[in-house]
Amino acid sequence: MPEILIRNADHILTMDDSRRELSGADLRLRDGAIVEIGSGLQSAGEVIEAAGCVVTPGLVNTHHHLFQSLTRAVPGAQDALLFGWLKTLYPIWARFTPDHMFASAQVGLAELALSGCTLSADHLYLYPNGARLEDTIEAARVVGLRFQPTRGSMSIGESAGGLPPDMLVEREAAILEDCIRVVDAFHDSSEASMCRVGLAPCSPFSVSRDLMRQTALLARDKGVMLHTHLAENDEDIAYSQEMFGCRPGQYAQDLGWVGPDVWHAHCVKLDAAEMALFARTGTGVAHCPCSNCRLGSGVAPVRAMRDGGLRVGLGVDGSASNDAGNLVAEARQCMLLQRVVSGADAMSAREALEIATRGGADVLGRPECGRLAMGKRADVAIWDVSGIEAAGSWDPAALLLAGPTTVRDLFVEGQPVVRDGQMVRFDLADAIARQNALARGLQAEM
Ligand SMILES: [Zn+2]
Repeated sequence: MPEILIRNADHILTMDDSRRELSGADLRLRDGAIVEIGSGLQSAGEVIEAAGCVVTPGLVNTHHHLFQSLTRAVPGAQDALLFGWLKTLYPIWARFTPDHMFASAQVGLAELALSGCTLSADHLYLYPNGARLEDTIEAARVVGLRFQPTRGSMSIGESAGGLPPDMLVEREAAILEDCIRVVDAFHDSSEASMCRVGLAPCSPFSVSRDLMRQTALLARDKGVMLHTHLAENDEDIAYSQEMFGCRPGQYAQDLGWVGPDVWHAHCVKLDAAEMALFARTGTGVAHCPCSNCRLGSGVAPVRAMRDGGLRVGLGVDGSASNDAGNLVAEARQCMLLQRVVSGADAMSAREALEIATRGGADVLGRPECGRLAMGKRADVAIWDVSGIEAAGSWDPAALLLAGPTTVRDLFVEGQPVVRDGQMVRFDLADAIARQNALARGLQAEM
């Protein structure tokens, strides 16, 4: 595999174990890994000049529903709370086909890549009209991102007291069978893996307790991770107490849904005891600040989580509830929200970037990603700070205070994904045109 030398960066924020920051430094990549960091490095491979740039680890997105990038800003869902929002969107999603799944994933992943993301999870929990998990896996392969797709599911429809319409739910036996199929076909547990599959029933209000328990047993048997939505807002807590007679933390614990192989999205409403449970068990959290704002869910207690030793990563969440998918902007939002609640010293720009890089990588069980250090994977974002966003900045390395919201270059496993602000491996204009045509088609059928 060719070697790449990134040379003379103004700053390298390594996010390594001692959070080193280097000035006027170089980074050498070979065979998908980082082989050298320092000054005056030599290489026979391609040289990329990085003067005027800040270099960071690629950002990690721990929660998304890529298919939702086809249902942005849908009238009727623009101003609703979570449950009403879902009920507006379910019938539209029920018309999706494999083409919709591929196109939306391609555009969603490209948007993430342009915003510095090198590794993304995805939570696909509905499979209408022949859609399959591999529709999104193929999109990630085309875009070039490291991918952690999760086989989601819904099994309790409206007629059984659940939230989704009956036409969008699957039989539990069929769900478990397909979970086995996709893990066996696509999960790669190697350190350089470009695709690790997880299992992810949608939420406590759309699957049975039994499916939660069975899924956890299956995931542990297969050695894959578990993911779901938890404690997102007050409606969610009320549902848990009414239907299960307990809070979400207790529900998760009873069903085997805590541990270092589990991460929960949102957790806006976790109480102190639930945070202690998650810290004690190594359970991860995907914090989704924009989505929580957009749906009026509240502000997740990220300061308290971090202080209590919880593992926290960042997620843009689906594009029906953000509606953007810009991960570095999401990191800024994370920083700002903690300051709204706890004061200006509650979270620094560097800490928010840490959550967005090594924090997310650790949540996804990928400690070989999310930091720039010898032997780690060569997932690198290069930010041009010579433009207007950072003009006049005294500390361009404080990217989240004054810096660009798109990358100049992005490498995943040492391979170029973005160069000079453009997607390298496919024609983005074509993909956007196809995405818009599919969205118009869905709109026309309303
Ligand atoms: Zn979500």
